[in-house]
Amino acid sequence: MKRHNFSAGPSILPGSVLQKASEAVINFDNGLSLLEISHRSKPFVDVMENARSLALELLGLEGKGYKALFLQGGASTQFFMVALNMLEKRAGYLNTGTWSDKAIKEAKIYDDVYEVASSKDANYNYIPKGFDIPADYDYFHCTSNNTIFGTQMKEFPNSPIPMICDMSSDIFSRKLDFSKFDLIYAGAQKNMGPAGTTLVIVKEDILGKVSRKIPSMMDYKVQISKGSMFNTPPVFAVYTSMLTLEWLKDLGGIAAIEKENDKKAQLIYSEIDLNPLFKGFSAKPDRSTMNATFTLANEDLKETFETMVKEAGINGLNGHRSVGGYRASMYNALPLDSVGVLVDVMSELERKA
Ligand code: PMP
Repeated sequence: MKRHNFSAGPSILPGSVLQKASEAVINFDNGLSLLEISHRSKPFVDVMENARSLALELLGLEGKGYKALFLQGGASTQFFMVALNMLEKRAGYLNTGTWSDKAIKEAKIYDDVYEVASSKDANYNYIPKGFDIPADYDYFHCTSNNTIFGTQMKEFPNSPIPMICDMSSDIFSRKLDFSKFDLIYAGAQKNMGPAGTTLVIVKEDILGKVSRKIPSMMDYKVQISKGSMFNTPPVFAVYTSMLTLEWLKDLGGIAAIEKENDKKAQLIYSEIDLNPLFKGFSAKPDRSTMNATFTLANEDLKETFETMVKEAGINGLNGHRSVGGYRASMYNALPLDSVGVLVDVMSELERKA
């Protein structure tokens, strides 16, 4: 039976990418596996260089003073790596959910953090607006898409200080003026590849301004100078990410995938709004195109709904424990058809109830 994978992360990858990645595990270069050749060999150095330049190209950031790095430790490592490299006195953070909150907690280890605004008062079901960013802070940090709560920033402030963004769950999904950001980071395991690598896009001229000593592995400048190969990189995760970026480029890049993502989001949200058995969790203007969060209006239907979901081959629909209910994660590789199958189940439930 065809599976429809709504997993929040690690999540669906294009079938052609999985095929090529698995072939490379057996034979990548003259009978040798991708996993058993030196990361310093030309075939792998080419992979790393290609992955780095594709990331910049797709974001429209080539030749604009940015570098792309594929690092390890997940987006969670970026929570403190950003602060180590950038936080001298005080930074401003927008608190829009669990992941922002964790970024704040880690940055506080190094210095002062000020929450410019927070939506904690309403269990993070909206994105705060109209906040000020003090011009004398070191940087401003935000989270573009809140994977758990299903909210997404639709507009970004004109920050007077470097703007840093955790784009883990919506990178490469929609057109944005990426040059507004000075540093972007994203764990690969949603829109880009397998778990194990984190993409960091950094504008070089914001670095080197803090007085503390930074361990080499944690120093963006060191990582840049070594071409993202200060130590052995996660070769499989980087290769598979490169394949996904190639897949996206062949499709027509971010502009093309954004159209698909908008169609998927429209389909699911119109069902949530029209079907009286379901309630959307997040505030309408802030609804995420990547993660749609919703609950059942009547919990008595839980078992029936979940059985129908299972029978339709739908995977990964459970909501995060802090929201409950359901979460349909619709990353780039999820076909519109899969959302159609879910919406059919939801409307079938209405007919049955
Ligand atoms: N930020 C966001 C927005 C996330 O969704 C996640 C993971 N779901 C993280 C950070 C943490 O990522 P990692 O597990 O790669 O550390």
